[in-house]
Amino acid sequence: MTDTPPVYSGSRRILSGIQASGALHLGNYLGALKRFTQLQDAGAPCFLFVADLHAITVWQEPEKLAAQTREIAAAYLASGLDPARSVIFPQSAVRAHAELAWVFNCVARLGWLDRMTQFKEKSGKHKERASVGLYTYPVLQAADILVYKATEVPTGEDQKQHLELTRDIAQKFNNDFGVPGFFPIPDPVIQGPAPRVMSLRDGQAKMSKSDPSDLSRINLTDDADTIAAKVRKAKTDPEPLPETMEELEGRSEAKNLVTLYAALSDQTKEAVLAEFAGQGFGAFKPKLAEVAVAAMAPVTAEMRRLMADPAEIDRVLADGAERASAVADPVVDEVKRIVGFWRA
Ligand code: ATP
Ligand code: MG
Repeated sequence: MTDTPPVYSGSRRILSGIQASGALHLGNYLGALKRFTQLQDAGAPCFLFVADLHAITVWQEPEKLAAQTREIAAAYLASGLDPARSVIFPQSAVRAHAELAWVFNCVARLGWLDRMTQFKEKSGKHKERASVGLYTYPVLQAADILVYKATEVPTGEDQKQHLELTRDIAQKFNNDFGVPGFFPIPDPVIQGPAPRVMSLRDGQAKMSKSDPSDLSRINLTDDADTIAAKVRKAKTDPEPLPETMEELEGRSEAKNLVTLYAALSDQTKEAVLAEFAGQGFGAFKPKLAEVAVAAMAPVTAEMRRLMADPAEIDRVLADGAERASAVADPVVDEVKRIVGFWRA
């Protein structure tokens, strides 16, 4: 194993989410889903939500959003999360997230948000046309985490800056209101063999659900032929694979494919290079497609099976929302008391 989860003890609580913004991809699987299951199986209490409030920071078709939410829930279950042990729920079904986010909007500083690189990337050249929600997204994310007083947040590398903001918000709330320790300062858990999977079309951009090019990513629902075709078309360079990882510096597309092979076959990158050094991508790509299909086929099959039974998914989500609210609502009640809001 290249990817040993930490051993958990004491009063820990794990929180993470995935946006209901489209098809899940290999980056979500390796950077998030697989890690959640490892944490759950190591005995950590996990709260995992489908981020539908986050999803609408960019346009989502209303008639598709609920189906997208169920699809993420199906991926949670298919990748090994057990609703008896982990709490799986839609973010919008627990009102406390949005309520705490408002208070945090008044704690976070504009200067902090101005530094967020993901907003700059996602808003592109026309920042004035982006939704206000896209700008304050990291504040809602802080509420998602702190409303459960979560101690650890497993995510991909792209969320690092947002998690630092969450820590700053927790600290400032505790200081401003004179309640030291009220919110824990949560630790980012950015680990695993592939915390930043890159696009198959551009080695400088991360693989994303919202990338307009479907060729940029391998979706969890792609069949074997589609995966093989996408890997074949993946951007590379004409050089053969080298013997060491150092020699892959500056070859971002090649490095990404080696990282993927290693993560999918549970080997180190060095072991992969030992096997393929001197060979070109013509030989390497079909093997990569094979390991991708082998690793993902069971998850994909289980996702399809689950999606054929939306009533079962809905039962899991409704039960999860109830259990999540039972933890989050008292925290928001306490925040309201701390802030000094009126109550009878
Ligand atoms: P979007 O493009 O809509 O933002 P996304 O692909 O970035 O979608 P999210 O729902 O924003 O997916 O992220 C869900 C989880 O997957 C987060 O923990 C995030 O860090 C992780 N993740 C997203 N993309 C990658 C990637 N390319 N490599 C590793 N982890 C990733
Ligand atoms: Mg994202």
